Amino acid sequence: MATPQLSVVVPCFNEAAVIERFHTAVGEVLGRAGLDYEICYVDDGSTDRTREIIDGLSAGARRVRYTVLSRNFGKEAAMLAGLRMSRGQAVVLMDADLQHPPELIPRMVELHTRGYDQVIPRRTREGEGLARTLLSRSYYALVRHLMDVEVLDGAGDFRLLSRQAVDTVLSLPETNRFSKGIFSWIGFTTATFTYQNAQRVAGGSKWGSRRLLNYGIDGLLSFNNRPLRLAIYAGFWCFLAALVYAAWTAFGVALHGAAVPGYATLLMTVVGLGGIQLITLGIIGEYVGRIYHEVKRRPSFVIRETDEQPAPRPHAPP
Ligand code: UDP
Ligand code: MG
Repeated sequence: MATPQLSVVVPCFNEAAVIERFHTAVGEVLGRAGLDYEICYVDDGSTDRTREIIDGLSAGARRVRYTVLSRNFGKEAAMLAGLRMSRGQAVVLMDADLQHPPELIPRMVELHTRGYDQVIPRRTREGEGLARTLLSRSYYALVRHLMDVEVLDGAGDFRLLSRQAVDTVLSLPETNRFSKGIFSWIGFTTATFTYQNAQRVAGGSKWGSRRLLNYGIDGLLSFNNRPLRLAIYAGFWCFLAALVYAAWTAFGVALHGAAVPGYATLLMTVVGLGGIQLITLGIIGEYVGRIYHEVKRRPSFVIRETDEQPAPRPHAPP
């Protein structure tokens, strides 16, 4: 099987509870659609039975391929590993937890055959907490403002990419990856449609609020240097405010000859400016850190084994 029509790339981290159900669901849908496909599982260093289950699924099934990473590298790296191993003329990226309905795949493929290089199902935010919805909304507003690329609210990593789009993504040399931004940056013709949000069928989400926050900051900073520009503006406005305040004070002294009471203002200025300086320093630091990371040229992930090169199993002592 040289180039199947479709590769389904699935990053899996501790998904033993759902992966079989996922596999059956996808197999049914794709079989019914009569598509020539392969499913590429990437085991992102799971500590549960995920690896064995994938092994079982791939045994004797030519449509199932897998890559096992040497440890947990995160979803971004796992997706990248999956894209690298995929061979299809089009690639669908999806989660293992059935939050991305497999029933949508035929429609995505249909849009692809009509000439779209990217097909993005956007989910509604139904069934999500109000706080999370509000946070996501404002985050996307911020992202739209700070990045040069458009990142759609509700458009996650679930999408179809044409071979050309995949190859473009793979040709980007950066190791710090923020896929949402990259997918948008590469361009190509894009079609979107909405679907009902679904809950994960089993197992737990790997994204605590802390991890989500860090991911958000990563996204904002890893794309361009607009945040640095913000620091310049903040500095400029502070300086302007200080000038105005100085003029006002001088004026007051000249008019009334009053002594300048300064304790509170002094404190506010020092603390306020200190805060801005620390934030700015932090932003610069983040960029320097990223440069450090890129300069090391480490790969985004390390492969332990693939379906083509299974690792030798440790033997039980005789
Ligand atoms: N995932 C992964 N590596 C990680 C975390 C998650 O490969 O370090 C996979 C996970 O197995 C799932 C997908 O990424 O297939 C989405 O994860 P999850 O459902 O936890 O995220 P959520 O849907 O809550 O955003
Ligand atoms: Mg999920």
